[in-house]
Amino acid sequence: MILILQPDTDLDSAEYRQLLDHLDRLPGVRYRIHHEQGEQQRLTEIYLIGDTARLSLADMQSLPTVERVVRVSREYRVLGRHQNDDRPSAFDYNGVTFSQDNLNLFPGLCAVDNPRHVELMMQALQQHGLVCTRMGAYKPRTNPYSFQGHGKSCLPYVFELAGKYGIKVIAMEITHDVHIEEIRQALEQTGNPTGVMLQIGTRNTQNFELLKAVGRQQQFPVLLKRGFGITLEESLNAAEYLASEGNRKVIFALRGMKTNMGDPHRNFVDFAHVPVIKRLTRMPVCIDPSHSVGSRAADPDGILDLMHVTAQGIVAGANMVLIDFHPDPAKALVDGPQAMRLQELPYFLDDVAIAREAYEKRRRLIRGEN
Ligand code: PEP
Ligand code: MN
Repeated sequence: MILILQPDTDLDSAEYRQLLDHLDRLPGVRYRIHHEQGEQQRLTEIYLIGDTARLSLADMQSLPTVERVVRVSREYRVLGRHQNDDRPSAFDYNGVTFSQDNLNLFPGLCAVDNPRHVELMMQALQQHGLVCTRMGAYKPRTNPYSFQGHGKSCLPYVFELAGKYGIKVIAMEITHDVHIEEIRQALEQTGNPTGVMLQIGTRNTQNFELLKAVGRQQQFPVLLKRGFGITLEESLNAAEYLASEGNRKVIFALRGMKTNMGDPHRNFVDFAHVPVIKRLTRMPVCIDPSHSVGSRAADPDGILDLMHVTAQGIVAGANMVLIDFHPDPAKALVDGPQAMRLQELPYFLDDVAIAREAYEKRRRLIRGEN
């Protein structure tokens, strides 16, 4: 059960104290308090855990400072979509809105290799009016002898160039909690020219200590990749770890599942699950065509499988696309063969626009709008 308090409830007030005293006396019930500082107001929600089935909605609703009560109908308490649950799914970060209703594009480098490639990438994004990108600094690699990413040494130039080209959000994977502090420090040293969305990779979806550390901070939103060899429920619980620690600015990314030894795609594309995630949770849903398809194979017309699955995900309502681009894929240090080329960016955007329009038309159709 979730108690949603009146906005800006005074935490020093007698009413608030009275509410907590009442909750303290409920047998078999524990609670967790969550504060969310928005631009306009502070929201406070109290999550009741344990023996809550006996509690009546009306009784709880009548407690001091309580505005609304939501009975949790599914497992994912914070991020789940419950009955009569009109809590917002959207959040803003550094001037960009993320929600289940819009679409943000994150084309960028799988791995940062040198300042020139970062600059060419960001320059192209700015030319096309894009404000988000992906930039890998910490790379988890299957082979210990493969390039592991430049780590914190590349952060200053990545952030400065982002500022120069108006990039507001960079999706960046971290593999250890010390990376959060490294990113924070580099942002501070460069004068906070941009924002970072912390990415949890598919190999770390169930790294619970990392999830807790990322969940404990609210400065950066999180992009959680679905685990490639676990159930959907397990991955959604991983997202809930982040939220239960306090960070509910979470986007859930589909990136394909391990099935058939990488043939014909690197992973089995799972973008049919976009509406499933939206139904079960309030998280915006990201698709990662690069790490699911893993190649530049094309159909007889020349349309890349990458673009087919991107379109499929968007037609199904995806809210974010994370995709590898590179100015010179032959020289990329990681995942060059699956990268889109910079000169393909206008084509990519046109194709995405077609798919998004189709989704919006489909949505209007079901709603009976014209
Ligand atoms: C990535 O996005 O660079 C990446 C390694 O993805 P995943 O964790 O999905 O393999
Ligand atoms: Mn990659």
